[in-house]
Amino acid sequence: MSEQATSAIHAAYDNREGQGTMAVPIYQTTAYEFGSAETAANRFALRELGNIYTRLNNPTTGVLEGRFAEVEKGAAALVTSSGAAAVFYAIANLAASGENILLANKIYGGTLSLTQYTLKRFGIETRVFDPQDIKTVEPLIDDKTRAILFESISNPSIDIADFEPIVEIAKRHKIATIVDNTVATPYLFLPFDWGVDVSVHSLSKYTSGQGLGIGGVIVERNGLNELLIGNPRYPHFNEPDPSYHGLIYAALPFPLFTLRARLSLARDIGAIPAPFSSWLFIQGLETLALRIVKHSENALTIAKWLKSHPKVQSVNYPLLEGDKNYAYAKKYLRGGASGLVSFDVGDFEFAKRILNSTKIFSRVVNIGDSKSIITHSGSTTHQQLNEKEQEAAGITPGLVRLSVGIEDVRDLIADLAQAIG
Ligand SMILES: *Cc1c(COP(=O)(O)O)cnc(C)c1O
Repeated sequence: MSEQATSAIHAAYDNREGQGTMAVPIYQTTAYEFGSAETAANRFALRELGNIYTRLNNPTTGVLEGRFAEVEKGAAALVTSSGAAAVFYAIANLAASGENILLANKIYGGTLSLTQYTLKRFGIETRVFDPQDIKTVEPLIDDKTRAILFESISNPSIDIADFEPIVEIAKRHKIATIVDNTVATPYLFLPFDWGVDVSVHSLSKYTSGQGLGIGGVIVERNGLNELLIGNPRYPHFNEPDPSYHGLIYAALPFPLFTLRARLSLARDIGAIPAPFSSWLFIQGLETLALRIVKHSENALTIAKWLKSHPKVQSVNYPLLEGDKNYAYAKKYLRGGASGLVSFDVGDFEFAKRILNSTKIFSRVVNIGDSKSIITHSGSTTHQQLNEKEQEAAGITPGLVRLSVGIEDVRDLIADLAQAIG
């Protein structure tokens, strides 16, 4: 296996095959000719792996899956139509009605609503823990617990989970851990080195890098089969699957988590990407190694500058000395803390004035774009929460959030300086 930045450019595609194209081709197709009735039957029976139908697999998406898995040092990946779909698949691949999952309290809003409302209607209960207060985890676990889900660097609160003890508890109870690694990317945090079982990402953010489309991915670690096989928490991996003529996943010699997500969840739910979207993410992944370093450097420079500004009351950035996440950032992150910075200017009107005054920073609710973004959480993403819920989510009226891009940082600071005044 190559170094990450090499895998991102070369893995899972051999340009000496096919037409020899340097760029990965876009296989914009719905279906595939089997060649013979026997091949068709063999592929459906998994006696032979090959293309069946783009809801199940596609050669362009397959390159992205192979590359992303290798970049993150995992065993296999499944690309989905969005990060939200990746989070849903990861949970639905483990938990069923009548069972529960543990969810970090510092979490992406979409994941919060998915679990608190949609999955609740499907009978999956969510129990909330604090990923930096380890004693809140174990009391929530019972024999119906199927997953522990948290974010490496949380969006939007910019907190870092304390991985080591969470994973240790999960392993003791033989429960799968899922980390949303969107903000850190595989370059700043390698979840499988810390024993996490499954990672999910929104590809729409740093992987795309240019805000070009919506996509997601699930990656499983090497050796995850050992947790799934024979584990009474996961009978659906160990008993005959009636929807697949009695197939027993545990008997197959493949990474089982993504295989089942593909054969069962992608088959039935169909949240898969267009081949063109996969191709865009392949382009983004090629330069992610460079961009994430620049995002991180710019963000740290801006965080330090903000901290010294008299009109700024507080600044959140994990690698800022004195930040409440500093020790975790030093322990878990490698080479930077990504592009999210937030700062508090005390009141709502002042925050809004800053938003209305920036010229380079765009007023957008997205992160991970090469272009810098400014957001006022109180009046947009967290508007529907009441004051108490906002407080719990760490949202104050004067909080401004930045997704720092890769422009020249001198211009970004000048823009903020004139906006803050
Ligand atoms: C954006 C985001 C998602 C959802 O991804 P989409 O591609 O927008 O569906 C999930 N988790 C995190 C941390 C995100 O930032």
